[in-house]
Amino acid sequence: MSAGVSHARNLWGEACKILEGRLCRTAYEQWFECIVPLSADEGSISLGVSDDFFAQWLTDNYGDVLSEALAEAAGRETPFSLETGHSPAPKEGAQASEEDALDDGVGGAPCKAAGPARNCHGRYTFKNFVVGEENRYAYSAAMTAAQSPGVFNPLYIYGSTGMGKTHLIQAVANQALQNDPGATVEYVTCEEFLNSYVDSLKNKTHYEFRSRFRKVDLLLIDDVHQLGNKAALQEEFFNTFNTIYNLNKQIIMTSDKQPSEIKGLELRLVSRFESGVITQITQPSYETRLAILRLKQEDHLIKLGEETISFIAARVCSSVRHLEGALMRLAAYSSAMGGVSITVSTAERILGDLLDKEAESRKVSIESIQRTVSEHFGIHIHDIIGSKRPRNIAEPRMIAMYLSRKLTNHSLPEIGMAFGGRNHATVIHAVKQIEGACAEDEGVKRTVAAIKRQLQA
Ligand code: ADP
Ligand code: MG
Repeated sequence: MSAGVSHARNLWGEACKILEGRLCRTAYEQWFECIVPLSADEGSISLGVSDDFFAQWLTDNYGDVLSEALAEAAGRETPFSLETGHSPAPKEGAQASEEDALDDGVGGAPCKAAGPARNCHGRYTFKNFVVGEENRYAYSAAMTAAQSPGVFNPLYIYGSTGMGKTHLIQAVANQALQNDPGATVEYVTCEEFLNSYVDSLKNKTHYEFRSRFRKVDLLLIDDVHQLGNKAALQEEFFNTFNTIYNLNKQIIMTSDKQPSEIKGLELRLVSRFESGVITQITQPSYETRLAILRLKQEDHLIKLGEETISFIAARVCSSVRHLEGALMRLAAYSSAMGGVSITVSTAERILGDLLDKEAESRKVSIESIQRTVSEHFGIHIHDIIGSKRPRNIAEPRMIAMYLSRKLTNHSLPEIGMAFGGRNHATVIHAVKQIEGACAEDEGVKRTVAAIKRQLQA
């Protein structure tokens, strides 16, 4: 072992003792036990972590604590750097590598009693999930949850409909069972959870209900936004959640909103949901849409030319579900016509109404942005457009300019004109200000995201 490695291990060992004393047990286990000391010299230390998601989260939430512990352990400032792609040595019963584990039981990992988890589709796997910028963190957090249940706990994935949340959560269920066929994995939609709960009250089978949902290694609940305004169900869910969480078993939830945006959700549940890892899936980019179409062709037994694929990817942007819907419609047409190949103009004809709806949904006007922003802040639209510069107007106006730039195709001078004849430099300034504010201030980031969602709903 080189001196750098052994120095890193010693220093990290000391820092861990300090961290263990300062953090609660769960946080320490969740975020620090899986860090691998790589090398250190007199001035700095390099630490190995699993992936970008972990690195970002650790830096954002524990960067200061970590720096302090390292400084104390070394007796001087010792900056750290994080290197991704490292996992700690496996605990007992050697874990398969990520690749083996993803191998669907073929190859490296011992062949297991495969088959999808209860209530889950076998085709919802990590392998069949196309990863792009908009879902990378959700994917990597879900993967971690499947490989090391309890590390990211609870995991909360949100995004609007058709973005792949159900696919991802069921991929965790299927994968966890692949890794450990003996694991108890319970996947349900929130609605099924509600129905089972009501049945258990009716049939006096409450004990069975509780055993089913509390004696699990992984509990996966899809669409938890449906808990909103259901007080009795929330009470039951709260107790279920606590039992599982305290046993250090994995909980994963999906939702179409952030916890704090779910109407009628008790605060104690909001704070439970926010206590772990929250990650969002946003609309698929053009590249992701292309990759999804290429991948899904096989599922739908159709082979499209590159030109047709690019055409569909460019025109169907709102969700993966719609993208898949388009593909299914073309596959049905092609098969009904004896396997005819689909040209761009055929696709345009067959998908006509769907393409119109897509075009309509993309139309966000500067005017609708100004209206939505002023409603959000409770100010008059003329204040946003006008020339006054009171403090309470400045930020909403910049947000409106920023969104006009991001969500419409208008040029900078056009946007400036729409805001009371301001020049393009003012718009650039606003965009930069809001980008900066979103990076630094969670409140502004949430506000912008909420207005954006409202505009695109
Ligand atoms: P949600 O639960 O967010 O409403 P779903 O998980 O039901 O969305 O996804 C809708 C369809 O789109 C499913 O058939 C799913 O397989 C597919 N899908 C979504 N995202 C992806 C992706 N990134 N890669 C492959 N398929 C995807
Ligand atoms: Mg879903």
